[in-house]
Amino acid sequence: ARRKLVVGNWKMHGSLALCREAVPALATAGNAQVEIILCPPAPFLGEVARLAAGTALASGGQDVAELASGARTGEWSAGMLAELGCRYALVGHSERRQHHYENDALIAGKARACASAGITPIVCIGESLHERESGETRQVLCNQLDWLLTTPHWRNAIIAYEPLWAIGSNRPATPELAQETHAFIRAYLASCDPAAAQQLPLLYGGSVNAANAAGILAMPDIDGVLVGGASLQIQAMQAISATA
Ligand code: 13P
Repeated sequence: ARRKLVVGNWKMHGSLALCREAVPALATAGNAQVEIILCPPAPFLGEVARLAAGTALASGGQDVAELASGARTGEWSAGMLAELGCRYALVGHSERRQHHYENDALIAGKARACASAGITPIVCIGESLHERESGETRQVLCNQLDWLLTTPHWRNAIIAYEPLWAIGSNRPATPELAQETHAFIRAYLASCDPAAAQQLPLLYGGSVNAANAAGILAMPDIDGVLVGGASLQIQAMQAISATA
């Protein structure tokens, strides 16, 4: 069985104080079956990575640049994340797509940049409510995946399915709907490379909390969860990890 992943995306929340509280509390919450990955805002990454060093807790960026270096004020490279001890980076989160106009080509470039630096990209995909209601979900997901598939490094990526209508809405996908969509994503990847598709971790994100995580994580094609709001509560993260 694939190992379960519990990823906490703090978005633009938290503080140094929360880092100092959360890291020791989560450092012992993972085990052989569950890996926990914390993605705090970039200014806190050094502190989180330092506090988590030598523990089972992993850390990741919420974003990363497409370039290895250059005149790109406000950005940071995958190599810089690696230097801090981070092993992961979120790439193409819907909030980056929406508020920072990121497109699939750029996101594929970011995934490539991660691979070059030994960082595992967690590539986020998902449809809007309008797209789901119009019956376009599968086409939207295929379009997003096709860009990722332009880089052979996709085999070492993690994919997070986050339907936009479930993010921060307190309206998660049902476990059945999430499973159905994950099975579709895995089958689509399998049409390129069956063995890689079988190995690739697929995460669900969107209003995951301590009460609903177990049902979602029990699904065969759901290898973990990407948690937003609830990841700011240490007890919720511990509870989610315990059910995984
Ligand atoms: P919420 O868990 O707050 O819905 O956020 C999901 C998300 O976007 C995680 O990346």
